[in-house]
Amino acid sequence: MSALLETNELTVSYGGLHANSNVNIKAEKGKLTGLIGPNGAGKTTFIDAITGFTNVSSGRAEFNGNDLAGVLPSDRAKQGLVRTFQSLELFEDLTVWDNLIVMAEETKWWSFLADIVKPNRVLGIEEQAEWALNLLGLGEHRDKLTLDLSHGQRKLVSVARALAAKPSMLLLDEPAAGLDTVESQQLGKHLREILKQDISIFLIDHDMGLVLSVCDYIYVLDFGKIIAEGTPEEVRNNPEVKRAYLGETAGEMQAEGGAAAARTLSGEG
Ligand code: ATP
Repeated sequence: MSALLETNELTVSYGGLHANSNVNIKAEKGKLTGLIGPNGAGKTTFIDAITGFTNVSSGRAEFNGNDLAGVLPSDRAKQGLVRTFQSLELFEDLTVWDNLIVMAEETKWWSFLADIVKPNRVLGIEEQAEWALNLLGLGEHRDKLTLDLSHGQRKLVSVARALAAKPSMLLLDEPAAGLDTVESQQLGKHLREILKQDISIFLIDHDMGLVLSVCDYIYVLDFGKIIAEGTPEEVRNNPEVKRAYLGETAGEMQAEGGAAAARTLSGEG
């Protein structure tokens, strides 16, 4: 295996349900790799399996050439594999700044050791947090309580918090959920900025406009299996993908009158 993150026949089973079934994914260094799929396809399960939050039933996952089997979530983060959660997991009654510092503290002892081996390699905690805030344009909000921010700003704080740990790969679990079109486009710009900082990104999201516009390569999951992969253009035109989304679109159309669903494959976001 040679990609930064690579899985080989990764399978996660919950009882009789294969939430991920023989999933083969390669996420290359310096790239933005996307994973899309209808509700319940197994996207979060994949991130859970990669970051150690659920058990892998069979198959293999490697990060930076190292087998992840048996590695604790905290140790995976120290190796540079850092995630966000759909539920954000922010401390509501802390300031934006304190939310970031709490996360960066987690890597303190490790950074300290790295500094001894290779001085100046790692920024101090405050510098890391400052860097992450500025990268996401949150500097002016640093002293606000997160509960006083808009939903879109809170989403960015959760990304900044993960960034403050200076990952080599950032795994984002639906960062655009609940964002309006403008906020989603802003997020897309921030993601491309993050890539320039030598941080690779693995993105799962329902926002087709975002995924198709920012990803370098996309995998499509349906009922736990990869049914398609390719560039955004290839995925957009793939009949299997249209079929998988049509099922969801029909449901969404009934529930929402069709407007949101009609956008899902057009890439309008
Ligand atoms: P969504 O887009 O709605 O967030 P998803 O693609 O992220 O969905 P998962 O949350 O990974 O999908 O769920 C995949 C399947 O696994 C679903 O059928 C779900 O009910 C099931 N599942 C997920 N987590 C568990 C669990 N801890 N125990 C049992 N079943 C689970």
